[in-house]
Amino acid sequence: MLPVYISHPDCLKHSMGDQHPECPERLGAVNDMLLIKGLLDFMQPMDAPLATEKQLAQAHASLYIHELAAQSPKEGTVQVDPDTSMNPYTYQAALRAAGAAVLATDVVLTKGAGTAFCNVRPPGHHAEYNAAGGFCFFNNVAVGIRHALNVHGLERVALVDFDVHHGNGSEDILHDDERVLMCSIFEDKLYPFCGNVPRGPNMVNVALPARSGSEPLRQAVLEKWIPALDQFRPQLIFISAGFDGHRDDDMGNLGLVEADYAWITKQIVAVAQRHCQGRIVSCLEGGYVMSSLARSAAAHVKVLLGMDD
Ligand SMILES: [Zn+2]
Repeated sequence: MLPVYISHPDCLKHSMGDQHPECPERLGAVNDMLLIKGLLDFMQPMDAPLATEKQLAQAHASLYIHELAAQSPKEGTVQVDPDTSMNPYTYQAALRAAGAAVLATDVVLTKGAGTAFCNVRPPGHHAEYNAAGGFCFFNNVAVGIRHALNVHGLERVALVDFDVHHGNGSEDILHDDERVLMCSIFEDKLYPFCGNVPRGPNMVNVALPARSGSEPLRQAVLEKWIPALDQFRPQLIFISAGFDGHRDDDMGNLGLVEADYAWITKQIVAVAQRHCQGRIVSCLEGGYVMSSLARSAAAHVKVLLGMDD
């Protein structure tokens, strides 16, 4: 089976207001660039299913899931945190985004798809076991990871997160789960203002100072991430693919460029080829300037498809 591209029109209906950076246009920007670059010709498109309550409950408290569903407005918007709100379509979109990670896991593990890219929103890595926040409602990658472990019976799954913000939600859910290794690189002293002190032995957190640029990132990947990943020997790798560390994106100040996203993806692909037949599930997280988001996501997907040379 070809590498898989998963998305859903429902993900476009969730909106947090016309001025909000986490906007529906993000998905179109990514989709258009993958199309223009010819990358979608080499991918199998699939619609994201709705995650089931049982699947969500692998990563979230049942009470939280019920409360979020109950908060879903019939009209207008409901504020969940200062930056995060629900419209009448948000809950359905969140179910699709988490369902994408579940489907991606299934096709990569059982259909030989190799890699899967989920072009979905809302993003997930700030969603905690018990709480929405930071534009996130369900932790898509954590739901996928627990599905891989609990349903497919894998024993070791890695998560790498290169969004400019620390994946505090993923750490909240996955810390001290010894079946999981989480590697996160993020900008220090930026939302969500944590991650400097890892919450468990299975966390490899690297905080980089603002305006670090490419070299410290690459050095940290080679010195901190890769040895930990090689020692862990993952059977499947998830990527929290956030592109808001790009120098054109004012959400963060790491000063990265497309070549950095291609390079870091190449390192992850090499780990996957060494340990798990190249199996990778990548889910979109941040990235808020349409042009740099689209170019960076395309650079990332191109490497996932093995077309970077
Ligand atoms: Zn981010």
